[in-house]
Amino acid sequence: MFDPYLVQYILKYLILCNNCNKYCIYNDCNICCICNIFYCSHCNEHLKLNYNNNETLSNYCIPCNTMIFS
Ligand SMILES: [Zn+2]
Ligand SMILES: [Zn+2]
Repeated sequence: MFDPYLVQYILKYLILCNNCNKYCIYNDCNICCICNIFYCSHCNEHLKLNYNNNETLSNYCIPCNTMIFS
C-alpha cells in the first residue's frame, strides 16, 4: 500500500488535463490565462501563445483566444 501522505504529496503536483482527462505533472505554462483550463504537454497545441493587454506572453485556449483576439 502507498503511504496516504505520499499520495497527497504526489497529487499536489499532478493536474487533470481538460482535454484528454489524464493526470499530468502540473506546469503553469500550459494553462489558459483566462479560463484556467489546463492542457497536458500532449494537448498543448490547443493553447495559443499570444500577447495580452500588458504585452506579456500568455497562453489562451482556442475559445478564449477567439473571444479576445477576433
Ligand atoms: Zn491532455
Ligand atoms: Zn481559456
